[in-house]
Amino acid sequence: MKKYLLTPGPTELPPRVLLAMAHPIIHHRAPEFLPVIEQAREGLKWLFKTKNEVLILASSGTGAMEGAVTNFLSKGDRAVTVNGGKFGERWGQICKAYGVEADVVNVEWGQAVDPEKIKAELKKYPDTKAIYIQATETSTGVVHPVREIAQIVHDNSKAILVVDGITGVGVFDLPMDEWGIDILLTGSQKALMLPPGLAFIGISDRAWKLAETSTLPKFYFNFSKELKNIVKNQTAYTPAISLIIGLGESLKMMKEEGIENVYRRHTLLADATRKGVQAMGLRLYASQAPSNSLTAVFAPEGIDSGKIISAIEKDFGIRIANGQDQAKGKIFRVAHMGYYDKSDILFALAALEIVLNKIGHKVTPGIGVGAAEGVFM
Ligand SMILES: *Cc1c(COP(=O)(O)O)cnc(C)c1O
Repeated sequence: MKKYLLTPGPTELPPRVLLAMAHPIIHHRAPEFLPVIEQAREGLKWLFKTKNEVLILASSGTGAMEGAVTNFLSKGDRAVTVNGGKFGERWGQICKAYGVEADVVNVEWGQAVDPEKIKAELKKYPDTKAIYIQATETSTGVVHPVREIAQIVHDNSKAILVVDGITGVGVFDLPMDEWGIDILLTGSQKALMLPPGLAFIGISDRAWKLAETSTLPKFYFNFSKELKNIVKNQTAYTPAISLIIGLGESLKMMKEEGIENVYRRHTLLADATRKGVQAMGLRLYASQAPSNSLTAVFAPEGIDSGKIISAIEKDFGIRIANGQDQAKGKIFRVAHMGYYDKSDILFALAALEIVLNKIGHKVTPGIGVGAAEGVFM
């Protein structure tokens, strides 16, 4: 059976990227590796819309998240974290692990954060050093208002704004320099169309200034050491060579498509997915602020979402994701970030209609697909 990966990480890989990664290993200190990093560096600055360097780390996205705490803060520093799901919760856990005082803004799952709540925290604790948020909270499918938050943070404090853009970068616009995002990070296995194993982090001048005072322990994720290396088209330690070669190819694909077209494609696919599932009588989990990277959907009343997920896997080879923690069994998540097209959405919606009927939620065949066709036409 042909397999399809529609999960919010890892995501499908383009054949061009797979072929690029089949290149024989180049030694990372050999002259022929320098242009590989140089090309990736330039492409990442283009993607992050920043004049500053974007570091390349050999880790999953969480490594960059941890480094975004340890390289900028000191023990006892105050930070604000937004917790509206599993990934927002992780910011709080990292802060706790390193003795950073995190003021947690709790957000109901499925909702976006109200920027005024962040403003209130900053008024209450004017010595806050950093604010940690997600662009998309992947566990709920919600997009947070990053631009408004950046405005509020810089109007009301000297703190840096750190954005986990792991399911944002390459899906929708997050122009670092223009919006005043001090730290923007992502991972390879979401919209960047690569296997897991790389993380990328862009750092503003204001954040580098703060890094000078940071005393938290750091060794592998030492960003000033990485900065000294990347300007020489090197990394401090052995890089994930094959993945960086693949990155060069995926960036090239995005440039060929045009970044605005990449964003437009994601908008279109997300719109079609939402209209498709709603036409089947299903409700969106992120009802107010759904992200264009994935669509989180409530299972029909009385049906465990796990049943839908296993049936669509068994009958159609499509892997989608369950909810996590409190949302487990209640929702399913269909991702459309990265190497996805209109055909993937039409197929997934058709498969979902068949599976829902089989499980006992009656759906008129073609109703969801028809709604998506309406969007595409
Ligand atoms: C996937 C994801 C992560 C975690 O990344 P890992 O690569 O699993 O470490 C963090 N934040 C968000 C928003 C994600 O979607």
